[in-house]
Amino acid sequence: MYREIREKFGLAAQLAIRVIAKVVETYKVDKTSFHEFMDLGSIVYDQRILSFKGMDQVSISTTSGRIRVPITIGKYGEIPFERIRGQCDLVRKNKLFYLMVAVEFPEGPSINPENIIGIDMGIVNIAVDSTGKYYSGDHIRYVREHHTDLRSRLQSVGTKSARRHLQKLSGKENRFVRNTNHIISKEIVQKAKGTSSAIAIENLEGIRMRTTVRKGNRYIHNSWSFYQLRSFIEYKAKGVGIPVIVVDPRNTSRECPNCHAISKKNRPERSQFRCVSCGLEGEADFIASLNIRNRAAINQPIVAGAIFDHSIHPVASQRASAVGS
Ligand SMILES: [Zn+2]
Repeated sequence: MYREIREKFGLAAQLAIRVIAKVVETYKVDKTSFHEFMDLGSIVYDQRILSFKGMDQVSISTTSGRIRVPITIGKYGEIPFERIRGQCDLVRKNKLFYLMVAVEFPEGPSINPENIIGIDMGIVNIAVDSTGKYYSGDHIRYVREHHTDLRSRLQSVGTKSARRHLQKLSGKENRFVRNTNHIISKEIVQKAKGTSSAIAIENLEGIRMRTTVRKGNRYIHNSWSFYQLRSFIEYKAKGVGIPVIVVDPRNTSRECPNCHAISKKNRPERSQFRCVSCGLEGEADFIASLNIRNRAAINQPIVAGAIFDHSIHPVASQRASAVGS
């Protein structure tokens, strides 16, 4: 399409290439429907068509040639100029243009952990850590249920304006989830740093394996992005040198962290754990986080001693919500 696009729209060579790349990318994600693009949709600029002239100006290729545009940098102004890398997205929002810039982020020197924090991820509690802290999903679920409601009403309307509203809604929801995941992952990593702890998480199948969801909750479940939370934890941990240990997810919710008996009967209810062998009781997601921590400890003999010391008192005491607190 290259030649045709250039002739028809009078685009510079590299801009035509970016247009093709944008279209190709969306079809890579979904080939089953016809894709329409908004007049003011975002455009990817690479170094050939955009360059920074110091920190207060960019030179940018447009349909009327190359122009220089003054820029202001928000709260990230302290990031050294040399760290700006590769491509950026030009986005228009509320009549302002924004450049979304990728920045290279150096990894901190790895710490020698003295402890391990196990993280269990789920639907009811987005995350529970092995110190007994709950990162609640209540607020998320409230917003999602509200959106699900609104979505089904908009879908039944089916007009062009309803479709636009739907698109806006999904963007809003993605930003909300992303923001929540940022808050939770930041808190977890800061806690790990403050206590010189490694972070232990299950490998991904664990989350899918363990969650059986009633029909009505399916939407909430499918779109909740554990993958994102996990990757946020991983990259934030890397930045401050906190090791992330990935453990085998099998039976983390059925094993007793005290006597290691594994039984379905250890879970009389979804939220409740009671060991049929030694009688240990606790909140199920918290018990799972202890098992995740213990599994990681087995592979880290230096810290294992300290870890097992307090695993016999696994009754959760601290309940708090990461959102709105
Ligand atoms: Zn037991």
